[in-house]
Amino acid sequence: MVTKENTAVSTLVQEFNLLVDEPLKKYTSFKIGGPADLLAMPKDKLELKKLLTKSSTLNIPVTLFGGGTNVLITDKGIRGLVVITKFLKSKIHIIQSNLQGKTIYAETGDRLSKVCLFAIENSLSGLEPAAGIPGTVGGAIMMNAGTSSWDISNIIESIDVLDPKTLSFKTLKRKELDFSYRQLNQSGIIVAATFKLTKKPGKEIKKIFKENLIKKNAAQPVFAASAGCFFKNPSRGKSAGELIEKSGLKGKRINDAMVSLKHANFIVNTNNASCEDILLLKQHIQKIVFKKFHITLETEVRLEGE
Ligand SMILES: Cc1cc2nc3c(=O)[nH]c(=O)nc-3n(C[C@H](O)[C@H](O)[C@H](O)COP(=O)(O)OP(=O)(O)OC[C@H]3O[C@@H](n4cnc5c(N)ncnc54)[C@H](O)[C@@H]3O)c2cc1C
Repeated sequence: MVTKENTAVSTLVQEFNLLVDEPLKKYTSFKIGGPADLLAMPKDKLELKKLLTKSSTLNIPVTLFGGGTNVLITDKGIRGLVVITKFLKSKIHIIQSNLQGKTIYAETGDRLSKVCLFAIENSLSGLEPAAGIPGTVGGAIMMNAGTSSWDISNIIESIDVLDPKTLSFKTLKRKELDFSYRQLNQSGIIVAATFKLTKKPGKEIKKIFKENLIKKNAAQPVFAASAGCFFKNPSRGKSAGELIEKSGLKGKRINDAMVSLKHANFIVNTNNASCEDILLLKQHIQKIVFKKFHITLETEVRLEGE
C-alpha cells in the first residue's frame, strides 16, 4: 500500500493534486469499486508524462482508466496510482484530406460519441457502427470496441502512445498494431489517435447513425449501471447473450447483481452490488452455460484491483 506518511509520496500528492483513498465506484459505469491509494486526473500529455516519471522513480504501480465503462473494480480497490485519462482532450480536428476522405485527430480522453458527432458534422463516414458506445477514444482503442460486424481497428490510421518503460512518446502506424477481438495486444498508454474516414453526404451518415443508436437502445439496458457486454462472444455459433438466455438465466440475481432482463449478456448493478456479488453471478453463469452447452464463456469486462 502506498502511504501518505511517506514524504516522497506526500510531495507527489501535493504536486499533482492527487486524491487519496478515493472510492473508484464514482468513476465507473458499474458504480462498483473500492478505493485507489492515489488518483490522478491529468489535464495534458506533459503533466501525464511528468506524473508517470515521478511515480516510476518511486516504484508506484500505475493503473489506467478512460471512461471506466468496461471495467469491474474489486471491493478492496487498487493499490498504487490510478490515472484517469478522460480529461486529456483537445479540439478534434482534420489533419489530412484527399478526394476519397479525411483523417481526423482526437486525443485519448475525447469521448467516442464526440468523435462520432464530429464525423457526422464533417460528412465523414466510418464511425456509424460506434453509435451509443460509451467511453473514451483510448479505452475504445485498447478494447478494440465495436459490434458483431465492425471494430474500431477498421478505421484507425495511427495511435500516439507514451511508452511506460522509456517514458517517451511515439507514433505507431496501423500496420504496427496487433488488434484482435475486443483487444489491442500491445502495452503503452494511448494519448491520441487518428482515424481514416471516407466522404459521404452528412444526411446519409446521420440516418444510419440514428438507426444504429435506436437499435442499440432498444436491445440493451443502456441506462442501467453495467460495463456493457460482460462476456466475449464465442468464435462460432451462438452469441454469449443467446447462450445465457437459453440457459434460463435472464433475471437471475445474487444480491443486487442481476442478469439483465433486456439483454442476457449484461450484468447490471440494480442498486448497491459489490464486486463480489458480480463475480459470484459471473461464476454461476459460466457454470450453468458450460453444463448446458459445453462452452466456457470468457469475460470481456476487465477486472482490476486487489
Ligand atoms: C451501456 C454500455 C454499452 C456498451 N456497448 C458497447 C458496444 O456496443 N461495443 C463495445 O465494444 N463496447 C461496449 N461497451 C463497453 C465499453 O463502453 C467500451 O469497451 C469502451 O470503448 C471502453 O472505453 P473506456 O474509456 O470506458 O475504457 P475503460 O473502461 O476506462 O478502460 C478499458 C480498458 O482500456 C484501458 N485503457 C483505457 N484508456 C487507456 C489508454 N489511454 N491507454 C491505454 N489503455 C487504456 C484500461 O486500462 C482498461 O483495461 C459498453 C459499455 C456500456 C456501459
